Amino acid sequence: MNDFTGKNVLVLGGSRGIGAAIVRRFSKGGAAVAFTYAGSENAAQALGLETGAQAIKANSADRDALTSTVASRGVLDVIVINAGTLVMGDPLALAADDIDNMIDVNVRAPYHAAVEAARRMNPNGRIIIIGSVNGDRMPFAGGAAYAMTKSAVQGMVRGLARDFGDRGITVNSIQPGPTDSDMNPAEGPMASMMHGFMAIKRHAKPSEIAEFAAFIAGPNGAIITGAMHTIDGGFGA
Ligand code: NDP
Repeated sequence: MNDFTGKNVLVLGGSRGIGAAIVRRFSKGGAAVAFTYAGSENAAQALGLETGAQAIKANSADRDALTSTVASRGVLDVIVINAGTLVMGDPLALAADDIDNMIDVNVRAPYHAAVEAARRMNPNGRIIIIGSVNGDRMPFAGGAAYAMTKSAVQGMVRGLARDFGDRGITVNSIQPGPTDSDMNPAEGPMASMMHGFMAIKRHAKPSEIAEFAAFIAGPNGAIITGAMHTIDGGFGA
């Protein structure tokens, strides 16, 4: 298991689901971990008590709150930008404000947070953005805007890897497929439809995504950059 003793790690959107698993993994590895949340006060406080990580209330849709939180953590070794929202349905019926908020959280926030982190990041730092296999494949109706936000992450990762590579900073996206969380419960109404697209017909566990984040953040990740790493049970195959 990669050891992160002495490392300064920030997870954006860490109170629940995949983000909480990532907070647990880096905390267990010995890192000094802080994480943000927007609404889940109780879950955030409980996770802080469980792991020793510091919970910070900061809405990723609020650019000033976001960038000042990133700056307040000083010289980071790892930033994992996980916070995301999912708005799905008939595009003719969805509220435009909900779509714009999703774009703020899923696209604008990762870009501004990654840049702010890189201003003072350690050499060999790691920027990891949680995208989605839907950035590659959207095999059912109702997900156009969500897929658009996750495709945008791909361009961001490729470009920022070029911008920060001379400092040894890597920039990668992990693209989960269906993963058990409040956003996409393994027993939810959409589960069997999604399993129909998969070679291994089950939701991933959040810990399986977190373990890959730890691999990329560890010493063996030094040459891995500008890449999308899909963990999806073959959803996109
Ligand atoms: P959950 O809805 O279970 O958890 C989302 C987390 O992000 C929570 O900790 C939430 O905090 C935080 N968050 C959401 N909006 C904001 C915001 N505006 N500001 C700060 N924090 C915020 O989602 P998942 O764990 O399932 O998803 C995590 C990431 O993985 C997302 O980017 C998602 O798109 C991606 N993903 C998930 C898949 C899945 O099947 N689960 C598949 C592919 C990608 P709080 O509740 O405190 O606001």
